Amino acid sequence: MPANYQAELVAVLGQPVAENPTGVMQEAAFAAAGLNWRYLTIEVPPERLADAITGVRAFGVRGINLTIPHKVAVMQYLDEISPEAAIIGAVNTVRREGDRLIGENTDGKGFLRGLRLDAGVEPKGKRVLMLGAGGAARAVAAELALAGAASIAVVNRMPDRGQAMVADLRRSTGANITFEPWRGTRRVGESDDLIVNATSIGLFPDVDAIPDVDLSGANPEALVADVVFNPPETPLLRAARQRGLRTLDGLSMLVNQGVIGFELWTGRKAPEQVMKRALAETLCAATGSPSAIA
Ligand code: NDP
Repeated sequence: MPANYQAELVAVLGQPVAENPTGVMQEAAFAAAGLNWRYLTIEVPPERLADAITGVRAFGVRGINLTIPHKVAVMQYLDEISPEAAIIGAVNTVRREGDRLIGENTDGKGFLRGLRLDAGVEPKGKRVLMLGAGGAARAVAAELALAGAASIAVVNRMPDRGQAMVADLRRSTGANITFEPWRGTRRVGESDDLIVNATSIGLFPDVDAIPDVDLSGANPEALVADVVFNPPETPLLRAARQRGLRTLDGLSMLVNQGVIGFELWTGRKAPEQVMKRALAETLCAATGSPSAIA
């Protein structure tokens, strides 16, 4: 067989992007799968995004991830948007089909995969309390709605953002989703099955910050999930565990969306344990935090 020194490329485009750890996980996965693929972490300013996508096409890049501030802007440069990404209104993953670039959103899908496989919780019929109405909240709420959650109560500091998200998702999914402004301490009720922190509260460097919620009335069977992955061990998850509640960290969502991305790009089954370990190690080394999945 003739030698083949040509690597296949995948990249994440963002600004800032240097602290995005996805490449560590994907490179570990490529190596474990014996693939001559590279995952590049590339800073692209908003005004160069169109050029960057032209470059993606010219280089035959196999797939990309998009992070801040490109998740919405990239949609205009793609050939097709998946139905779920259209509902969410943002794309975080692009795959290639021949010459066509197809936009997907794996943020919420990664969360749901982790919910099912890491926490053993089926979202159908669950009553959800969602903290936050930003990009992550929108993606997670959309997938929970599509998966048949019984109700989703969205609590957000800025009412306009929360109301807009709820109106959009109610229209596009028909789900039972409501909004309430976040004023003071939000009590978690007996009927809340799943509490999701989808805000950036607790994100490095504000690692001592905790969402203003009172867990004292929580159902002992409830699951508390955090989308914050840096650090994986947030004060909210610590507080929930101290009350005997089950928890799911943001590393689960990140790894699971990485698994979905790897499989979309390569068509191979992802080496999940390798990916989890690589990510947990790099984040714990960076923050000195222990991890639930290390
Ligand atoms: P956005 O900026 O789009 O949204 C931030 C959200 O946090 C908003 O709802 C905002 O409320 C809320 N918020 C921030 N600070 C406060 C505060 N002090 N008090 C109350 N609410 C607050 O960010 P994203 O949705 O993109 O990201 C949110 C988090 O999700 C980040 O930590 C990010 O790292 C994480 N993430 C994790 C992923 C994973 O795979 N684990 C994937 C994607 C994101 P308001 O609207 O009132 O400003």
